[in-house]
Amino acid sequence: MEERLQKLLMERYGRDLDLCTKAEIFEALMLITKEETARLPQNKGNKKLYYISAEFLIGKLLSNNLINLGLYEETEKALAAHGRRLDEIEEMEMEPSLGNGGLGRLAACFLDSIATLGLPGDGIGLNYHFGLFRQMLVENKQKEVKNPWITKESWLVRQPVSFKVPFKNFTMQSTLYDIDVPGYQSGCNRLHLFDVDTVDESIVSRDSINFDKKAIQKNLTLFLYPDDSDDDGRKLRIYQQYFMVSNGAQLILKECEEKGFDLHKLYDHVVIQINDTHPSMVIPEMIRLLMERGFSMDEAIAVVSKTCAYTNHTILAEALEKWPMDYLEQVVPHLLPIIKELDQRVRTACKDETTYIIDEDKRVHMAHMDIHYGFSVNGVAALHTDILKESELKNFYELYPEKFNNKTNGITFRRWLLHCNRELSAYIEKLIGSGFQKDAAKLENLLKYQDDEKVLKKLAAIKHDKKLELKKYLYETQNLHINENAIFDIQVKRLHEYKRQQMNALYAIYKYLEIKGGKKPATPITMIFGAKAAPAYIIAKDIIHLICCLQELVENDPEVRPYFRVIMLENYNVTKAAKVIPAADISEQISLASKEASGTGNMKFMLNGAITLGTEDGANVEIRDLVGEDNIYIFGKRPNDVIELYEEEGYCSRDIYEKDKMIHELVDFIVSDELLALGDKESLERLHKELIVKDWFMTLLDTKEYIETKEKIYADYEDQEAWQKKALINIAKAGFFSSDRTIAQYNEDIWHLR
Ligand SMILES: *Cc1c(COP(=O)(O)O)cnc(C)c1O
Repeated sequence: MEERLQKLLMERYGRDLDLCTKAEIFEALMLITKEETARLPQNKGNKKLYYISAEFLIGKLLSNNLINLGLYEETEKALAAHGRRLDEIEEMEMEPSLGNGGLGRLAACFLDSIATLGLPGDGIGLNYHFGLFRQMLVENKQKEVKNPWITKESWLVRQPVSFKVPFKNFTMQSTLYDIDVPGYQSGCNRLHLFDVDTVDESIVSRDSINFDKKAIQKNLTLFLYPDDSDDDGRKLRIYQQYFMVSNGAQLILKECEEKGFDLHKLYDHVVIQINDTHPSMVIPEMIRLLMERGFSMDEAIAVVSKTCAYTNHTILAEALEKWPMDYLEQVVPHLLPIIKELDQRVRTACKDETTYIIDEDKRVHMAHMDIHYGFSVNGVAALHTDILKESELKNFYELYPEKFNNKTNGITFRRWLLHCNRELSAYIEKLIGSGFQKDAAKLENLLKYQDDEKVLKKLAAIKHDKKLELKKYLYETQNLHINENAIFDIQVKRLHEYKRQQMNALYAIYKYLEIKGGKKPATPITMIFGAKAAPAYIIAKDIIHLICCLQELVENDPEVRPYFRVIMLENYNVTKAAKVIPAADISEQISLASKEASGTGNMKFMLNGAITLGTEDGANVEIRDLVGEDNIYIFGKRPNDVIELYEEEGYCSRDIYEKDKMIHELVDFIVSDELLALGDKESLERLHKELIVKDWFMTLLDTKEYIETKEKIYADYEDQEAWQKKALINIAKAGFFSSDRTIAQYNEDIWHLR
């Protein structure tokens, strides 16, 4: 590696490694890695999976690809010989922000596992030039700016593939860029990202995310999910979605035709996994393309219905896409006759109006189309799938019980253990050997060390090292000095009311007031938040504002600051997740029970030895069942109680606010003189009022029990031996959450790739 790197650097820059910049070394390593992945065999078989997703939150690729190729150590050594470090070089890589959060990150973990298991399966998505926005924190508020990530040399490889995509008034010609996805000690698959040459980055004004939403030819692949708070934004999303699926369907048919497959048996050669409803138009589009190739409508529908499978990611009604017919009419009129026919067949076959595709307000329910015309419907955690069957999609479950199945989410251990926590991973290898890297279930072999004092001390020492690393990083990136001896209590995830960062903020107020009142914690506490809010989601931005104001309040209070800190991490993304999660003692997973479909952050924390403080929600339930009640802290109302409260409209936050003196005090602190002196009156007052008059996700319902449980978990932290034993049990039981297990189950039950 050293020789090869030297040679390339000399060729490109005419300089020796010792004299090259980090950026130059990064570029050279990227090129070498690309050469190596290109040399890997493509995973092959008689049947191929196409995972279509509007998001692939892949994160930086250099280190991960080196790990998967088995070149990481060599590369580290080559650099070390010249006084360089791979983690410094990695800083030069731009992170593509091609996803919002969990759903997009799941797609990225899946690609890694599909390749690792040697299965033929490619991703299909869009090449957003500015991704999601980059978050800046300015005056205690979120500011969104564009996030350009495509550099002259990048992981993208332009392909000689192009399709025509018809819209109502014009046709667009696509271009295709591929990113190679090397499996861990395995073959290679591809991520196909479609783009258009007519995109014009200059229509986005500097340091903003504003652009002309009507100029489709220029804006189509600029941003992921541009603001859909207005009609033009919503229509742009339909343009993007159709562009994605039409290209995807054309690529699939092209590959089948090249291989000489009989399209009447498409389902024997192809399975299309629809990741949430964003790619749902692939169903009518594939029907349309097959009819162009001579299929009758009946034949096309029959074939497509046996080819497509749908994954549901949410039970939040507002997140299930319903497109007005007249939008579709204005963007993709040629799909409407097909969608109407699909709806008509449902109407003929069943009486239950709630399952119709087109409702009485002339809106097209994308998920309904997926369920009727796909062969599999899966939820993403056991509880979530049960809720789909028993309430959210009950009527569909009664129609098609055989279609419903659960696939509990997972994460790739290559990124979330081997890469982000090399120290822990090396220590595990020393204890139980390297088998766990390919077979995560082997982590259970750690259990025999659960009472081994030496092992527990070493786990504590590794955690301490990771805290020091995070401390250094926060100093370099946000000029913050944190205390590595504090308890690191961390909540990082998208900002949404159902995830209840506001409840954690109320706890911060509680602790602040307690310390002001003279009661100091036994060990200092550092609360770390990281979260982006959707640009048009006002209350979410108000919550970020509150957290930032609390940070400023505490930072400027010498009475409190030594014992308690509130830190808002800027621009939470995959890179930051990989820095912050290994340093965590406590994993905050406090969504309103029944609302978090699965969560995957919870799994990353567990794998890195953090203890979960959470509600009975999503995969937290499965974590609890694996580690046992003693090794997790579960609190709050249970899913069925919450579902019932919604049904009978039985929750009134004002009642709690009026009756509970402590909660009253915490909520009112949001509009206290102290905070109003630091923050925006309108924003803080809006949030204050929201919590009292609406509180749709029942924050105040669980606040009291949350505070009690948090006090208990902090108290338990004081017994470090008992704490590290819990950490060890969590790591040992995390094997189930490897995405290798998830993908093996998808393949066994849904895909049947041979
Ligand atoms: C894992 C991950 C998520 C998902 O976190 P949840 O806590 O499951 O919502 C979101 N964003 C990033 C960057 C992640 O790595």
